Amino acid sequence: MAIRKILRGNDPALTKKSRPVERFDARLAQLLDDMAQTMRAAEGCGLAAVQVGVLKRVAVIDCGDGLLELVNPEIIGREGAQKAPEGCLSFPGEYFTTLRPAVVRVKAQNRCGQWCFYKADGIKARAFCHEIDHLNGVLFKTHMVQEG
Ligand code: ZN
Repeated sequence: MAIRKILRGNDPALTKKSRPVERFDARLAQLLDDMAQTMRAAEGCGLAAVQVGVLKRVAVIDCGDGLLELVNPEIIGREGAQKAPEGCLSFPGEYFTTLRPAVVRVKAQNRCGQWCFYKADGIKARAFCHEIDHLNGVLFKTHMVQEG
């Protein structure tokens, strides 16, 4: 495993759309392992592959209740809304209040290519939305709203 360099806010790669993963091989496993280690070293709760310069639809999330590895993730359901401050490992120290769904349902493949289904609320719902946005080249400032 290795810690990879996290791209910062002005890097043009961060606004590019990532490509679907088609090969579930040792390279993908290595990427997922490195991403988990990089996220933990940076004390974040989510990281998308594009943030380490790899334009593949891969993300990791850990909101304190275990690591999720998401390959080709898609939001398949949204309910309600929540407002809270949100940060991003590519924008250290910057927090914006954003509007996100209260609950999301997500489908994603695991490192072996099997489809898994998730339902999340609270910070985990926000993390799913934030990381899947990254795969579409969308940054959290897009969802910025007034506080209160
Ligand atoms: Zn981010």
